[in-house]
Amino acid sequence: MIESNENLSESSQSRIERNRQKALAIRQAKLVSHPNAKSTAVSIDKTTIKIGSTRYKDTGGGFLLEEEPEKDLPTDSEATAEPPVVEDDRPNCVKCQKPIATSWLFDNFLYKCCDSCKDPEEHKLITKTEALKTYLLKDIDLEKREPPLKFITKKNPHHVRWGEMKLYLQLQVEERALEIWGSKEAMEEERLRREDKRVILKAKRYQKELKELRMSMRSSLYDRTSAAAHVHEFGPETYNEEEDTYSRSCLTCSYVETFEKM
Ligand SMILES: [Zn+2]
Ligand SMILES: [Zn+2]
Repeated sequence: MIESNENLSESSQSRIERNRQKALAIRQAKLVSHPNAKSTAVSIDKTTIKIGSTRYKDTGGGFLLEEEPEKDLPTDSEATAEPPVVEDDRPNCVKCQKPIATSWLFDNFLYKCCDSCKDPEEHKLITKTEALKTYLLKDIDLEKREPPLKFITKKNPHHVRWGEMKLYLQLQVEERALEIWGSKEAMEEERLRREDKRVILKAKRYQKELKELRMSMRSSLYDRTSAAAHVHEFGPETYNEEEDTYSRSCLTCSYVETFEKM
């Protein structure tokens, strides 16, 4: 059976009121004995009590509402000991603009993007070697230029003995490259310039090799012509039992003649 307010007897109404008063008394006692509330509770009037510099308003329902602290009073030493909440501690996510709750990217790369906005394609990691090659950078561009870029380390999956790989956030490497080259176009121009240089160097090397080849051919031709004029003067024959062959060496050149005897 459900009792409505109209049906409450006078005795049960006074019982409820007694319980409410009791709850209020317990609540106030708890507030006073709370370890952080060092100051004693002071009643200001029938509906307001003051603990330290904070006023609590009795709403009449057994609850106390906190009121604005009085500004002219010195603040509680307990309150000032707590670290102030700095806006920078929880920056906003660059994508959803909400304060970052958890962020792997911020923890590892100081990149302000929350975990729910993290995108495997957009927030790709790049090895240091790849970063230097792709963006035409030097070690110092990543490690010395302010601020040095953050990286994480991972065991090299292909070459365990090479030790750990440094992984950078590609977005940050690209940003750094733009700082250095000014624009993507300038970077591409530089890349072409370097490639041209490589091609020229390669052609030069090829020309040099060709020249060396020609010279060695000429000298071998010289050897053959002079060989025609040379008559070997053979030394004593030696017998190779294993192969059943005889050989003799020229005394004036390095020619060795090997032959069989029937
Ligand atoms: Zn986000
Ligand atoms: Zn000879």
